[in-house]
Amino acid sequence: MWASKLKTFTPYLSFGVVATGTSYLVFRTIRKVNVAHASAVHTPVKTFAETRVVVVGGGYAGMNLAQKIKKNCQLTLIDARDSFHHNMGAQRSASEPGYIKKCLIPFEPTFGDKFKRGKVVGINVQQQTVTLASGETIPYDDLVIATGTTGKFPSKLPVDTSASEAIARYEDMVAKVQKAQDIVLIGGGAVGVELSGDIKEDYKEKEVTLIHPREIIVNDRVSESFQNTVKERLKTLGVKTMLGERVTNLPEIREKGYLNVTVKTDKGSEKKADLVIECTGLKVNSEAYKDSFGDKMDELGRLKVDEYLGVEGVPNVYAIGDCTSTPEIKLARLAEAQSTYMSKNLQAKHEGKEMTVYKMEEGKSFIISAGRSGGAVQMGNWVFGDWLSRTIKGNSVFTPMQWKAMGQEMPK
Ligand SMILES: Cc1cc2nc3c(=O)[nH]c(=O)nc-3n(C[C@H](O)[C@H](O)[C@H](O)COP(=O)(O)OP(=O)(O)OC[C@H]3O[C@@H](n4cnc5c(N)ncnc54)[C@H](O)[C@@H]3O)c2cc1C
Repeated sequence: MWASKLKTFTPYLSFGVVATGTSYLVFRTIRKVNVAHASAVHTPVKTFAETRVVVVGGGYAGMNLAQKIKKNCQLTLIDARDSFHHNMGAQRSASEPGYIKKCLIPFEPTFGDKFKRGKVVGINVQQQTVTLASGETIPYDDLVIATGTTGKFPSKLPVDTSASEAIARYEDMVAKVQKAQDIVLIGGGAVGVELSGDIKEDYKEKEVTLIHPREIIVNDRVSESFQNTVKERLKTLGVKTMLGERVTNLPEIREKGYLNVTVKTDKGSEKKADLVIECTGLKVNSEAYKDSFGDKMDELGRLKVDEYLGVEGVPNVYAIGDCTSTPEIKLARLAEAQSTYMSKNLQAKHEGKEMTVYKMEEGKSFIISAGRSGGAVQMGNWVFGDWLSRTIKGNSVFTPMQWKAMGQEMPK
């Protein structure tokens, strides 16, 4: 069962939803205690205020950790981008002109000179330094790796994209969406469902088709009733679904730049498309650590961690968020929960207090917004429809919350 859970990357859990029915599993049950991090109590060499904490990756995990500890230690937050990318607004950024500007929050106003822009390409455990692509090295006492994942645009941006490049790419996608009449989305995970919903709701005259190789959409952890509510929502919007059909000519589609192509499936269907959007396949960002921790990675490139989220066998190096092998569902909300856990434990470590074992949350609450006015919400065994979905997520896709988390004012 865990094996299949390990492969799940993008099912969505709501922010701020009451965690009805949520249960907790103690991580100790699935990973052995590791010697390098085994001690719950450390004899501090430095106070936390003197400790150099380097956080690599300013996504939901790293940015939130950095916010929590920036006043308490010598922090350096490193990201290859100049701005936090609010990924949960990707579908809206691809369909609504100008929305992308709300989904890029600059790091500098929040972190000042504690923020360093650069791509980490190596880690030297003996010298306790990280190396940037520029050749610069940055020393650490504690290192937290939070490099997350990347994937196909428009779900994700390449790692070192600047805000101005991101805006240009998303605006180009919006223009392509506006120009196309027949739009085909490949992949009925959460991203494909949400993006097809947003496009169809905003551009009712267009034909929008979602092709997915399975009958189950979103992911296989959601209930049947949730599935049916999402399918009904897509039908109401007018999104056509071709479920149980696998696209067979992806190389040709990619070669043609996703424009003006006929999409073919293994069931013999052919669908003409002015624009194809691929919503599949996230990949772990392992470039920062693959040379140093090749033997600490699982088959997906994620870092194996012990019960304190320490990288197995490596002193003073930790990992949080989507780049860890913890078998929970990979979600922003859980990445943030790991950042809270890590902030408390780093503080405890340097105060000579007992570090606590990481408790993994078993997500049972999910939310899908298919278009801004509706979707589905699952809370434990309960499933709700459009009103709750748009109230919690559809209206805002959690964007204002993200600006608040970074202490900045959202542009109008
Ligand atoms: C389209 C979409 C919608 C989603 N919607 C939801 C939702 O509604 N709710 C939810 O809970 N989850 C959602 N998710 C999942 C959620 O986005 C992820 O779980 C979350 O982004 C994980 O956060 P992270 O900090 O681990 O990694 P990321 O957000 O991927 O951040 C990693 C950061 O590390 C940086 N980085 C990577 N490599 C390097 C390097 N070598 N050097 C320097 N910096 C580096 C990157 O630039 C990036 O800023 C969604 C995902 C997608 C793709």
